[in-house]
Amino acid sequence: MRRYALRPCDGGSDMGETVDVQSLSRWIRAFARAIAANRDLLTRLDSAIGDADHGINMDRGLAAVVAAMDEHRPSHIAVLLRDVVAATLLSAVGGAGGVLYATFFLRMAAAAGQAHSLDDLAFAKALRAGLEEVAQRGKVAMGDKTMFDALAPAIEALDVALAGGAGLGVALRRATAAAEAGRDATVPMLARKGRASYLGRRSIGHQDPGATSAALLIAAAATAFAGAPE
Ligand code: ADP
Ligand code: MG
Repeated sequence: MRRYALRPCDGGSDMGETVDVQSLSRWIRAFARAIAANRDLLTRLDSAIGDADHGINMDRGLAAVVAAMDEHRPSHIAVLLRDVVAATLLSAVGGAGGVLYATFFLRMAAAAGQAHSLDDLAFAKALRAGLEEVAQRGKVAMGDKTMFDALAPAIEALDVALAGGAGLGVALRRATAAAEAGRDATVPMLARKGRASYLGRRSIGHQDPGATSAALLIAAAATAFAGAPE
């Protein structure tokens, strides 16, 4: 009789990617690359309903974050998210959008606490804590036509997928689809927050730049935590 040995999990496809300082660093680097690749698109979107700087702001901020990561090589989750990512964004990014991203990462760091690694649920909980902080600081809710409209459904989809037993890779891919749908849903919305709100009804028919960068943030997580080495 042939016997089949069980092979140990090799981290492939959707098997148990650990959320630790290495994979979180991969996430931030993937986000920085996506922002750089979409810098002109983000600025174009912001030129329609804002002041044409979202791509420039975010790219400058994320490039500074990557440089700081290279320099400091943080070995702790909270240090990475708070002292490197959030602090660098705050000093380098400018713009309401960038400050809200800094707030998001700062709150994630607090949620991570002293942990050296997070399980899937703890990671989702940290993302939700960041989302709630954005809502509070930005005084924003669903339908206001902001980054929140992409982030909130993404984190909801992540929670639902994890509760249903999906692995983190699958759950983040579902979250990405939800973020992209949320981003697209901002097009017909009337902006109620930020510069776009000054336009009133003229903001209708344009995709929100912050929702667009937020969808890139979630897609970057799906890439970084899929288990594939980069
Ligand atoms: P600024 O508006 O200061 O020029 P950015 O252009 O970098 O900053 O970012 C604009 C994005 O910030 C918007 O597309 C929107 O998604 C987001 N944003 C603006 N105000 C708020 C707010 N109060 N709450 C949540 N997100 C907001
Ligand atoms: Mg702007």
